[in-house]
Amino acid sequence: MKNLSSYFRSLSVSLGLAFCASLVVWATWSAGLLASLQAAFVLSEPNETLVPQSWLGALLIVGAGLSAGFIVERVGARRGLPLLGGGFILGCALSLLVSRFRQIDIAFAPMALAVVASVAAVQLRKLWDVDLNLTRNISHAAAHVSALEGGEASARLMGGLKLLQTMLPLDEAVVFQPDESEALSPIARLRSDSTPLSPNSSHLQIWREGVVLCERAMTRGEVIAAKPPGETDGKGTVALPLKHEGRAVGALLLRLREEFDEEDRPLLIAVGAQLARNLQRDKARRRLDEKEFLTFLSYRAAETRLASFDVVSGLLTEQRFGAAVLAEAFHGYAVAYLDGTLASVNPPMLHAAHLSEEEARNLDIFGLLDRFRGGVFDEPSIAVRRVLQTGEAYERDLYFTDRNQTLALRIALVASRDAIASPALEPLCLTVRVCDVTEKKEYEKLKSDMISLMSHELRTPITSINGFAELLAMDDTLPEQTREFLTIIRNESQRLTRMINTFLAVTQLERGDKQEVLKIPLKLDDVVRETVNSLQPVAKKKRIRLVEHTPVRLPPIAADRSLITQAVTNLVDNAIKYSPERTAITISTALEADSVRVSVEDRGFGIPPESIDRIWEKFYRVARDGQEKDKASTGLGLSFVREVVEQHGGNVAVESEVGRGSKFSFTLPRL
Ligand code: ADP
Repeated sequence: MKNLSSYFRSLSVSLGLAFCASLVVWATWSAGLLASLQAAFVLSEPNETLVPQSWLGALLIVGAGLSAGFIVERVGARRGLPLLGGGFILGCALSLLVSRFRQIDIAFAPMALAVVASVAAVQLRKLWDVDLNLTRNISHAAAHVSALEGGEASARLMGGLKLLQTMLPLDEAVVFQPDESEALSPIARLRSDSTPLSPNSSHLQIWREGVVLCERAMTRGEVIAAKPPGETDGKGTVALPLKHEGRAVGALLLRLREEFDEEDRPLLIAVGAQLARNLQRDKARRRLDEKEFLTFLSYRAAETRLASFDVVSGLLTEQRFGAAVLAEAFHGYAVAYLDGTLASVNPPMLHAAHLSEEEARNLDIFGLLDRFRGGVFDEPSIAVRRVLQTGEAYERDLYFTDRNQTLALRIALVASRDAIASPALEPLCLTVRVCDVTEKKEYEKLKSDMISLMSHELRTPITSINGFAELLAMDDTLPEQTREFLTIIRNESQRLTRMINTFLAVTQLERGDKQEVLKIPLKLDDVVRETVNSLQPVAKKKRIRLVEHTPVRLPPIAADRSLITQAVTNLVDNAIKYSPERTAITISTALEADSVRVSVEDRGFGIPPESIDRIWEKFYRVARDGQEKDKASTGLGLSFVREVVEQHGGNVAVESEVGRGSKFSFTLPRL
């Protein structure tokens, strides 16, 4: 609808212009100003020739003009040219023939002139339109860019000068910019504190010389290093044109404590280029603030366009830095456009993929990922599709037997939120990251191997200690105190065994020994009932009531029975341990959307807020006022629960309030 109306609007404007242009030609013709031109296309004597009347002439001229306007509007000037050219030749021939044999003048010259005028008017209007759009878009882009680019221009200039100060023995640095009258005026200045202020007149003289040097540098377009006259102690003055897109937008004057070292020239030019971009942007921003309505024929508008273009090109230069920085990254990175083309691949990625730069140039993202194909990563295209569909990153540890290497691969979709255009995330590109985690993996394995070795080695002697202590304690002939000591030895060695067992279980689970997690269909209600029954005696000792609350029949879950039983036991055991006497503990089950939940709620001591996030950590124990750390506590019980639950694809949760109690719960996905 919108297109149609804009089409008609454009057509009517063009026809209107063609009409006006034709009217002007007609008026000129009526006034007799085209007589000689008209005569050139007539082959009969003027007084014998029949000339069309004014109204007929108007009809012919305006008709020709409108038709030409219509053709240019519809098919464009270039494609309409054969048609118009053909019409011209035909008209010309017709005019000559008719005037020769019938003595009639068909007013061909004004008609042709009306065609030319209409074509020019319509074409100009079209150019105007395009130009208006161009100006609008490029100014918009430049304004958008300036809004993105942080920091005041003057602050950025000073930043640049400070950077120069770190690498050059600077006495003074001044940035000049030409003003309206093209005279250089200083816009940023940095002086090292040690510079003594020279007497006024000579200072002015030096200043003027500096300005002249800068003007010369700008005209010549190159760095000029000079020794100030009268200076014999090796001081140097350098003037550098600040060039952006080949045009000098300002100049930088440096006064050095030492002679200028030619080796510094490339660096100086690079910093100068950055300062030039800042200067240009600052100037353009001021220009962009003035609204220009006249375009195409306006010199100022054309300058605005140029300034805007320079801003955009400056930004493009700076954007390239981002990609170049990737070369410095430690890990392998590749960036791919959403058509799969690789935008950049950094050296560590080339190394990990065993590719040369030349080979990588001919690959797309799939070709690159193919280099990592194998084992758990056998279909790279499926991984990419999943990332594109869900927007979630794909992560896998890939082990390569041939080179005994483990690489952590991550494929992610990079999206950005353009707050102005739309609040939704807009996908931009794909990134592939590869980290060599071989050493880390080996270290982790070594660590857990050592732990389990140590634990096994510890278990054997403890079993002996425990067994013999038990045997001895049964001997009635021993004195009472000795037996008491033996009981302590037995209890403590049993505690040690329990600790080692839990520790072993946790490390084993962490290592991801999945083959040991045997998942079979399991009814959680049964597990809860068994646990409650087995812990009743412990609870009774503290006069704690265990309440079972299983309101609905639960669907079965797939789980390792002994692990889940141990997890529930740990939670109920904790609840008993950390509750005062004569309280109740509720163990309940509930059905949720796609999981089942087990909760253990007590009226115990509760957990302070600063500890709540840490209680799932291994060996973490809550320190409570006035309460000694429980001897039977290892800080491993809850970390075991979390490991088990997460291995089964569930989540753990806790809510607690000091003095009021805690509620521990976990979910497990239903079958
Ligand atoms: P522990 O072997 O010490 O019980 P856990 O990992 O099971 O180790 O628990 C870690 C800490 O969390 C414990 O030291 C305890 O202070 C606290 N905690 C666990 N369960 C509860 C509970 N139901 N009420 C209060 N504190 C608890």
